[in-house]
Amino acid sequence: MRRPRVVFVSHTGTMSGAEMVLCDAVAPWRGATAFLFEDGPLGPALQERGLTLVHARHGAGLSALRRDGSLWRSIPLAGRLLATVLALARCAKSHDVVYANSQKAFVLSALATALVRRPLVWHLHDILDPAHFGAAQRGLQVRLANARATRVVVPSTAAADAFVASGGRRDLVEVVPNGLDLDGDPGDPADLRRSLGLPDGPLVGVFSRLAPWKGQHVVLEALARSPGTACLVAGTALFGEDAYAAGLHALAAERGLADRVHFLGQREDVPRLMRAVDVVVHPSTAPEPFGRTLVEAMLVGTPVIATDAGAAAEILDRGAAGTLVPPGDAAALADAIARVLSAPPEIGDQVARAQATARARYGAARMQARLADLIRRAAGGE
Ligand code: UDP
Repeated sequence: MRRPRVVFVSHTGTMSGAEMVLCDAVAPWRGATAFLFEDGPLGPALQERGLTLVHARHGAGLSALRRDGSLWRSIPLAGRLLATVLALARCAKSHDVVYANSQKAFVLSALATALVRRPLVWHLHDILDPAHFGAAQRGLQVRLANARATRVVVPSTAAADAFVASGGRRDLVEVVPNGLDLDGDPGDPADLRRSLGLPDGPLVGVFSRLAPWKGQHVVLEALARSPGTACLVAGTALFGEDAYAAGLHALAAERGLADRVHFLGQREDVPRLMRAVDVVVHPSTAPEPFGRTLVEAMLVGTPVIATDAGAAAEILDRGAAGTLVPPGDAAALADAIARVLSAPPEIGDQVARAQATARARYGAARMQARLADLIRRAAGGE
């Protein structure tokens, strides 16, 4: 069978974890099409990987539809939604399969592919549970998926279970863990600290976009209980959570942490920074669908502390490849940080296991091969 013609669809042009995964996933698909609703760094990144870019003329602003909002809010945007569905249908017609990389992309792709009868793969990067989405939105998503998706790809068993618990068909779901580049050399921690101008003492790091459910505030509360420990906070508010970002700075000042907490903004050198810290903390207060950040820390060989919510437990082998703490519990997090910083022998074992597990399970080539196989099957009507 000839290689299927694929159009990859995203509602956002912003680069968060899901879009980083898409950039890795398209590596075998040079010459394919990317249909984006809005401008942003994702477009050029996909072009660099050999994809032809199509911009939805009326797509800008559609990403402003809120995840937890009522469907009524979408009414003023109805004209633009319809125009985008029709443009997407025209584009889909000259392709064998449509691959939607986000929820909003999926909803519009479901309508477009119904018009032109094309198979539809939905890469669901979210965890469909009440902590993240309203009931109406979850209901719409799973009904559309059950009726229109040829396959639903999720990155973890936790995300698969949440989809099914929301009413999604189990037979549609395929778990394909996110894959990362295994070849980077982050460097020597002491050299890195010197070259990055980082403090010498105990240092923890948090590496996620700034958003309330990503839980950076819990780390600040834990630091208030951990005298002498400093912290790097990398990341920025990508989807309008600016008030939360400002609140973090205020909280650091209020707790007297201003000289121990280093807000670095959005960084392009996360693995190097992870290698330079003593502990990576992943403090999400709501379930994570995956958490590339966890795997990046495992790959560079830095101990990880993560909240036990969503996929963290399966990625960290139920605590054998990292330390799990309850979500939103600053005291438990402070205790875990103190324990890891004291470097007991079992942490060395954890790190070795984490590195081996991450290399075996979470390589980009593995993900690319599995997705390519799935796309071929979907194009062939399987
Ligand atoms: N990240 C980054 N720069 C930063 C903070 C985070 O490049 O300053 C990256 C991080 O290394 C990871 C991704 O953003 O690869 C976040 O993916 P994850 O799955 O952890 O979370 P998501 O944003 O998808 O919820």
